[in-house]
Amino acid sequence: MRIPLIAGNWKMYKTPDEARVFCERFREIYKDTDVQALICAPAVDLSACSDALKGTDIMLGAQNVYFEKEGAYTGETSIDMIKALGCGFSIVGHSERRQYFGETDATVNKKVHAALEAGLHPIICVGESLEQREMGVTMELVGMQVKAALSGVSAEKVRKCVIAYEPVWAIGTGKTATAEQAAEVCTLIRATVRHLYGARIARSVTIQYGGSMKPSNAAELLAQPDIDGGLIGGASLKSGEFVEIINAANQE
Ligand code: PEP
Repeated sequence: MRIPLIAGNWKMYKTPDEARVFCERFREIYKDTDVQALICAPAVDLSACSDALKGTDIMLGAQNVYFEKEGAYTGETSIDMIKALGCGFSIVGHSERRQYFGETDATVNKKVHAALEAGLHPIICVGESLEQREMGVTMELVGMQVKAALSGVSAEKVRKCVIAYEPVWAIGTGKTATAEQAAEVCTLIRATVRHLYGARIARSVTIQYGGSMKPSNAAELLAQPDIDGGLIGGASLKSGEFVEIINAANQE
């Protein structure tokens, strides 16, 4: 049984004070559900979030980590650092990191290994650009991104991975993939995992959809059999909208 995972990605929004205010409000309106709720906050907000969410089952994650344990890597954040602040997850290879910060399939793979080694769940983001969708290469490209991210990952460890299908053209644009488009690619992702690791493991891996998910479209997307949750940017910044999406996942 896969438990739905609804994760907020705050991107570069909210100061620590704003993060604390959000979490205090969120824990008031959040109802304990059968859904796992996760907030991926900026690294500097994690301490405030961790304090404000104490005593709840709302989970915390980072938006990026570096693959080396420690060292002379100015500006980077290590896995031990975010774990010390209560994180159990980190987004890896978000398209904004691939687009603006030089993240590649190879660095994504290194981060996936480092996260799993340290007991952290990586949320591996994959997805095509509009140009790639129009060229008709979505399935090949996403299949390749999944294979590259998981290269060398053992069957035992791959169960800890979350894979988020995030079509780049749908992120922050207000354009959502239709439920059919999202389902088709999420099914391909599960088939790729099945091909690599077998049916039992493929059934256990959590696959999310991300790209302008909001209260009005969440239920339809989350009703698709291979979509086990959402990675939510804009709509996770307002506690009321984020809770509505969690409640929609709880109905499925
Ligand atoms: C994201 O940042 O992963 C995302 C899906 O953003 P948005 O929901 O704003 O499209």
